[in-house]
Amino acid sequence: MEQISNYINGKLVPPISGKYFENPEPATGKPLSLVPDSDERDVDQAVQAARSAFEHWSALSIEHRSQALMRVADLIERNLNELAELESADNGKTVALARDLDIPRAVANFRFFASSIVAFHSESHAAGDRSLNYTLRRPLGVVGAISPWNLPLYLFTWKIAPALAAGNCVVAKPSELTPMTAYRLAALCSEGALPPGVLNIIHGYGQKVGRAISGHPGIPAITFTGGTRTGRDIAERAAPHFKKLSLEMGGKNPVLIFADCAGDLYEEMLRTTVRSSFTNQGEICLCGSRILVERPLYERFRRDFVEAASALRVGDPAAANSDLGAINSKAHLEKILSYIDLARQEGGTILCGGQQLTVPGRCSTGWFVGPTVIEGLHADCRTNREEIFGPVVTIAPFDSEDEAVGVANGTEYGLASVLWTTDLRRAHRVAARLESGIVWVNCWMVRDLRTPFGGMKNSGLGREGGYEALRFFTEAKNVCVKIEKEVGSQ
Ligand code: NAD
Repeated sequence: MEQISNYINGKLVPPISGKYFENPEPATGKPLSLVPDSDERDVDQAVQAARSAFEHWSALSIEHRSQALMRVADLIERNLNELAELESADNGKTVALARDLDIPRAVANFRFFASSIVAFHSESHAAGDRSLNYTLRRPLGVVGAISPWNLPLYLFTWKIAPALAAGNCVVAKPSELTPMTAYRLAALCSEGALPPGVLNIIHGYGQKVGRAISGHPGIPAITFTGGTRTGRDIAERAAPHFKKLSLEMGGKNPVLIFADCAGDLYEEMLRTTVRSSFTNQGEICLCGSRILVERPLYERFRRDFVEAASALRVGDPAAANSDLGAINSKAHLEKILSYIDLARQEGGTILCGGQQLTVPGRCSTGWFVGPTVIEGLHADCRTNREEIFGPVVTIAPFDSEDEAVGVANGTEYGLASVLWTTDLRRAHRVAARLESGIVWVNCWMVRDLRTPFGGMKNSGLGREGGYEALRFFTEAKNVCVKIEKEVGSQ
């Protein structure tokens, strides 16, 4: 079994505690690797290394930093197949999805921010001939990055690439449940792609490593993606230090399907709604989990959707014909199953799925759940308000636009919404009323990395993506230069 290492000051090193814990493979439940059980001492070492590297890294020309990030992108791309297989083994997602989505996106994250930083600019404000103000945008210093298990390398790189591009050094913590591709990235970077100390990666539990990062006085900013409860804990620990925070958290995303969705659009809506429900076993924060269908279309949608969901193949993530792989952890499997039980108790009817599956052969001891569709629940029951984060969706009819918007907005979350209609005016009207940071109209997961990304309400604080990210990872400093002698203090 492979024993992985932390990455501090350009070197792969063991945790100071000397302790490791087992990281299982979701498809088999058997141990895959041994992960450093790091603590605040390792975080502190990483912060020192990052601080030492900061002066040189932040003073490099933008072109040099950009080239370094391009080199990292090339390294990921050259190792794409190996990384995809590793991501699949570690997370439970299919190799095909990791190869088509996760790893290419990690490459794109580095390339995108390597390019964006070259075009990034600040403002100047000329007050007639009296004064000239210009804004300097300086990197913050050492940034903490904490990422989740569902899109491991994809989200890890989405955080570290803009932080590094802007001239910061990073202390990053991948999820303890999916450390493998971040470890491989460290091994690739240790061969000289980045100067020592610029990127440091500490493995271990959130309670030890994550909390050490959020409370460390030498880390002035934290970028986090994960659950809302964790985000709250990070905010509490960061507050006394007045840290800058970017928090991307949970969701309970609505999908609104209007009855005018006919012909080709109906077929496209059906295919996309199957994807938006079950891609990555439903373990994407942007998956739609509450499907609301205008009543005249409801029966038809219900029949076709359940048929399409039932036809999805759940199996060995390494097999080319599997549509869904394994659930990431035993604890998460149990959480999903307990929510399906709750749905039953709340009066829901399970139309398909609804139980743990056994996949024969190598994966017979793995953690699998079939695509699950539930109907007959009230909009405000717990199943419809709390994040399940698995291959489980509810469907319900609605009678008016107002009712649909009210239900859609009726949770503490506000990450993403999906809207299907051919009525352009309605699309704009409803999009404006939905309380979510992202609204997709007649599509899902179509991403342009320049756009602001983030959630409203308890789904997020701040925005990632494009210049929003580069602004977050820099501090604005205004310089006011007096031009004319007689200018007053105003
Ligand atoms: P999580 O909050 O349990 O863990 C996320 C990361 O935080 C991990 O690295 C973990 O070790 C660390 N952590 C845990 N406790 C910590 C603490 N007290 N202090 C500091 N760090 C701590 O989330 P998860 O289960 O890994 O991921 C699933 C969640 O992430 C879901 O709620 C999902 O919606 C959310 N998510 C959101 C987005 C988004 O863009 N908004 C994207 C992906 C996932």
